[in-house]
Amino acid sequence: MIHHSQIIKDIDLDSVSLRSKNYFYLHLVSNALGLPVYLPLMIAKGNKEGPVLGLTAAVHGDEVNGTQTIQRLFEELEVDDLKGTIIAIPIVNIPAYEEVQRKYTDGEDLNRIMPGKENGSESAVYAHRFVQKIVSHFNYLLDLHTASDGRINSYYIRANLKKPITRRLAELQDADIIVHNTPSDGTLRGTASEMGIPAITIEVGNPNTFQKKMIKSGMVGIYNVMSHLEMTRDTIETDNRDTVVCSKSYWIYTDAGGLLTVYPELTQKIKKGDLIAIIRDVFGNIIKEYYAPEDGIVIGKSKSPANKTGGRILHLGIIDRNGIFS
Ligand SMILES: [Zn+2]
Repeated sequence: MIHHSQIIKDIDLDSVSLRSKNYFYLHLVSNALGLPVYLPLMIAKGNKEGPVLGLTAAVHGDEVNGTQTIQRLFEELEVDDLKGTIIAIPIVNIPAYEEVQRKYTDGEDLNRIMPGKENGSESAVYAHRFVQKIVSHFNYLLDLHTASDGRINSYYIRANLKKPITRRLAELQDADIIVHNTPSDGTLRGTASEMGIPAITIEVGNPNTFQKKMIKSGMVGIYNVMSHLEMTRDTIETDNRDTVVCSKSYWIYTDAGGLLTVYPELTQKIKKGDLIAIIRDVFGNIIKEYYAPEDGIVIGKSKSPANKTGGRILHLGIIDRNGIFS
């Protein structure tokens, strides 16, 4: 089915009719020919007013698992049984998406410069207008990401677990791993939080690909949030796996260059002292071995053998054994 889209300059939620799905192109900035750069926008309104749930994907231009998650959700969504509104942006960072890259075309990471600036660089203005014109309408935000180029991720959530609402939103994702993480400056999640909009980051697998299972998991998480917010009457599905809660996480880096092999699998629990990676020189001799600095679980890992000094090995989650967050 072809969805007809309409060109707009701002979101006017009052003009969106009840029980409808709508597809827009919002004129956010202009390119060097003076032509519009359009932000794709999907708005579903239910049978009565209620919460406004924001869904964003591809703030990093090559992270498209979230894009298909949103597309499939909208395909299935039954507006007759929905209370409230869903505003979804299947691709946030259009200039980066067009170049199949993470960063905005001026070299900035859009998820480090939020909420942008009214008068600033290309990416700063883009971020500013995105926050003003789009994010300001949300009551809740689920921001969908993936690993970055050369790395792979489990299905994991970054959320402030000290706040009951964001903790609940995280638990509802039925993820492999939840990591407690107070939002850092410049992220979309941090900006939304400062605006009083509870927000979590959902890491839906790997960059620049569609992963069916991950996309399914992402959809279940969104449906669960909709149920929790009483936007639907569906039952919450959260018992499919044993989610591991981590009180913190960090990357382990190399201090030498060469060809990198990382041993543990995603979601594998490792012990302090386990061999986690080796580096070979170009002739195949092992020149360096790396061991786990403490017990933990593998959240993400490097997939790319070419490794310079300071390259990433794996993203280690430190399990919340004292039950502070779980
Ligand atoms: Zn990302």
